[in-house]
Amino acid sequence: MKSLDWMDSALCAQTDPDLWYPEGSGQHARTALRVCDQCPVRPECGEYAQGVEDASDGRRYGAWAGLSACQRNRQTSASAARDAQIIALTAQNLTAAQIGDRLGITGRTVDRVRATHRQQQEAA
Ligand code: SF4
Repeated sequence: MKSLDWMDSALCAQTDPDLWYPEGSGQHARTALRVCDQCPVRPECGEYAQGVEDASDGRRYGAWAGLSACQRNRQTSASAARDAQIIALTAQNLTAAQIGDRLGITGRTVDRVRATHRQQQEAA
């Protein structure tokens, strides 16, 4: 299990939680997203959010990692294409670091995509 120590540095933990799950007006969401812009753990938050949302059948709600739910929905299509690239490059025996360098992502993201793919293969 991954460490959640990064949450200790999450700026949203120091503010009104309702800002991240706004109802009605988008003003609260805009405020939340401005806080996210300054947050030092935004990459970790983004990876965590994707894991949570993947585990809940892709349901997205609220602001995470500087993105609204709609923005994360759009990002999902791009992520699927990126994941396919990761699997293709893995088949060419590239390391996670090499793939990360090529695609402009972290090796940890590559490892996560590979692990998810392996689990899907095993379950099939
Ligand atoms: S990036 Fe994530 S952890 Fe940081 S303030 Fe935004 S929602 Fe919270």
